[in-house]
Amino acid sequence: MAIQLVKGTKDLYGSEVVQWQRLEREIRTICACFGIGEIRTPMFEFTELFARGVGETTDIVQKEMYTFTDDGNRSLTLRPEGTAGTVRAYIEHGMHNQPQPTKLYYISPTFRCENTQAGRQRQFHQFGVEMFGSYSAAQDAEAISVATTLLEKLGVKNVELRINSLGCPKCRSQYNQRLREFIGANLEKLCPTCKERYEKNPLRVLDCKEEKCQKIIADAPSVLECLDEACSEHFQKVQSILNEMGIAFTVDPKIVRGLDYYTRTVFEFVSDGLTVCGGGRYDNLVEQCGGKSTGAVGFGMGIERLMMILEKQYGVMEQKSDVLLYIGSMGEKGLLKAQALTLQLRKEHIHAECDTVERSVKAQMKYANKIGAVYSVVIGETELKENKAELKNMKEGSSETISLSELCSVIKQKIGY
Ligand code: ATP
Ligand code: MG
Repeated sequence: MAIQLVKGTKDLYGSEVVQWQRLEREIRTICACFGIGEIRTPMFEFTELFARGVGETTDIVQKEMYTFTDDGNRSLTLRPEGTAGTVRAYIEHGMHNQPQPTKLYYISPTFRCENTQAGRQRQFHQFGVEMFGSYSAAQDAEAISVATTLLEKLGVKNVELRINSLGCPKCRSQYNQRLREFIGANLEKLCPTCKERYEKNPLRVLDCKEEKCQKIIADAPSVLECLDEACSEHFQKVQSILNEMGIAFTVDPKIVRGLDYYTRTVFEFVSDGLTVCGGGRYDNLVEQCGGKSTGAVGFGMGIERLMMILEKQYGVMEQKSDVLLYIGSMGEKGLLKAQALTLQLRKEHIHAECDTVERSVKAQMKYANKIGAVYSVVIGETELKENKAELKNMKEGSSETISLSELCSVIKQKIGY
């Protein structure tokens, strides 16, 4: 029996990979305009980085990590999210010495051992942005505006931006206390996982997806009531900047996001009921990972989710051919010439094809049609002798006689090269 791929993973090929490339191009163009440089960190890190960086009480660290021991008996983990590795790199390479803010992005495979229901894979991809070196609300707004710009450029419909503030650790501990009182009074009605969360990290209860928990949570106290003056002012400022930028949002005090490191602003983008992007401010993470105290904000966007949404809203994209010229051939000499000319065009960044499977001329033309070649030409003994050939426009059916030695320049002319 043939070996199959691992559950929760996926092969990308054909029109799907073309769609991915389009998305990646859009991301890179947008990041360039926002002055965000790319960072490529390793696929695995010391497990401790994620335990410390992502947080011991998160779903990710508790049950979703792919962890293994290498031959030096070191515990390593496949990247379950991109922020911790980026923070490590920021500290390790002394990036705080550069003019701040330092703005970085990545498009990378991410690994989580999750149940593979709809929209969940075990290897998925995240487009992430991390911005270091500012405590200002302006930085939060700039990070959010990167995501809105991308979603807008891609034409994603029904996008909802929800924002919230978790305050600083002081506000948060006050809120935790209030929340614990509330949860304590309703403990018996909550799911077993939430009972556990109540002890370790009550905030996580707000994130529970179980319906019975959701019902109870609806009446939970709002974190916004526990914000001190500075945190409250920061949150207000984020909102005014977003308003000024023309970015629509709603304030949702139930949003906490699944990661422990967030402080103050948190946000998520939802389209047609699917969360496509989550992020927020994490002012204590750099210090927690051994660096200097540094304000930071970022987000992670699930590329597969984005693709799912685009497919739902626009259908499957058809694969457009970009073959400009098919150079058919008859006989051995014709083939030699065809292959040499094809290479010449390709070196000029023109997509040309010729026969490499020794088909008959008739079969070659059928193939040229199938791959959607715009022009075709056939080179045989006569064409070589007379240095002339018929250049056919496959779409229109018209043809013209051209000099064989001018084939490349004629083709370049046709596309205005
Ligand atoms: P959820 O609450 O849906 O589990 P999360 O809090 O785990 O989300 P983040 O860690 O913030 O999500 O990741 C950011 C984005 O990455 C998500 O909004 C989603 O689009 C995507 N994502 C997360 N986990 C998966 C997965 N297993 N498969 C595909 N995409 C994912
Ligand atoms: Mg999750």
